[in-house]
Amino acid sequence: MHFLDQAKIFIRSGAGGPGGVSFRREKFIQYGGPDGGDGGKGGDIIFEAVAGLNTLIDFRYTQHFKAQRGIPGMGKNRTGAGGDDRVIKVPVGTQIITDPDEEGYSELLADFTEAGQRITLLRGGDGGRGNLSYKTSTNRAPRQHGTGWPGEERWVWLRLKLLADVGLVGLPNAGKSTFINQVTNTKAKVGAYAFTTTKPQLGVVSHKQREFVLADIPGLIEGASEGAGIGDRFLGHIERCRVLLHLVDATGDNPVEAWRIVTGELAAYGEGLDEKPQIVALNKGDLLGPELMEDIAEQLREEGVEDIFIISGATGEGVGALLDTLVETQDFPLAQVSNAGEDDEGEGEAKPWSPI
Ligand code: GDP
Ligand code: MG
Repeated sequence: MHFLDQAKIFIRSGAGGPGGVSFRREKFIQYGGPDGGDGGKGGDIIFEAVAGLNTLIDFRYTQHFKAQRGIPGMGKNRTGAGGDDRVIKVPVGTQIITDPDEEGYSELLADFTEAGQRITLLRGGDGGRGNLSYKTSTNRAPRQHGTGWPGEERWVWLRLKLLADVGLVGLPNAGKSTFINQVTNTKAKVGAYAFTTTKPQLGVVSHKQREFVLADIPGLIEGASEGAGIGDRFLGHIERCRVLLHLVDATGDNPVEAWRIVTGELAAYGEGLDEKPQIVALNKGDLLGPELMEDIAEQLREEGVEDIFIISGATGEGVGALLDTLVETQDFPLAQVSNAGEDDEGEGEAKPWSPI
């Protein structure tokens, strides 16, 4: 489960609002005393872990997060309102670490393990004092005021270990890479995570408002469970998947045998891999006629395979129905939580408030 997703973001808490400079103005009182209130506190930068997010992809588009400044103090000794906090939603499993120093060390600032967990990473600055609080016996009409304390700012890294929801298995050339490209290119919101060719390829698939992580686990070859080839290292990745999508190349010499080999590997690996729900997709349907495809599907049914889809990962035919079934049978999270589009400055229109 070591697919790492990461993003670097800039965060800044709000500055405190300046203290007000104001003098009482009342009928019959010619020179009222100072009555400027204190500025409000700046907003905090808060991180919150939420269910329903499973990648850091939003942070590729929105990298700056700023909380609002405090509102200036006002006359009649009114304290300015506090600036709004900025709550940044992250997936459960996210860690926040400092930007590495010259020696490459970074510090763990937060580790989110449960939905609902919140931490305040940067506190907003305190508001400045209003001119009322500068009044002394010798200075009865001060125009002095505090300007407000600055907020804090820094760059941090977010890191998330991604868990794949759906594991793609199949012999080399079954069409796994092609399939993942198909589903990640044609759907509205997709994150493609580029890994080298020997590592699993990941994609986030959004379909019918559900979102799931699909992992293409390459190199599952005969004998992988005994350590042959690179398959062994990646079989571990699929232990945590909820469902396996088994691609079978229908144009291969013996598709039923190909299915058997992979199924045998899963069983030999143990850890309940062969008991995971499995959907079989008979692939490359564009190269064979529907009757031939149906023939092969029938042979697989005779082997006891229940859920078979005839697809073409290359043309996309049959893929929609397959995704429909995946989202209908698995309780994938709704693809709705997002920080996107909130990259406002959050600064308000704060200026020292002075009525005279
Ligand atoms: P992988 O080894 O399982 O990742 O398989 P690839 O996705 O790399 O595909 C192996 C070969 O089969 C490539 O030449 C693909 O272009 C081809 N291929 C994959 N899916 C299809 C398909 O649905 N139709 C056709 N005609 N070719 C396919
Ligand atoms: Mg591949």
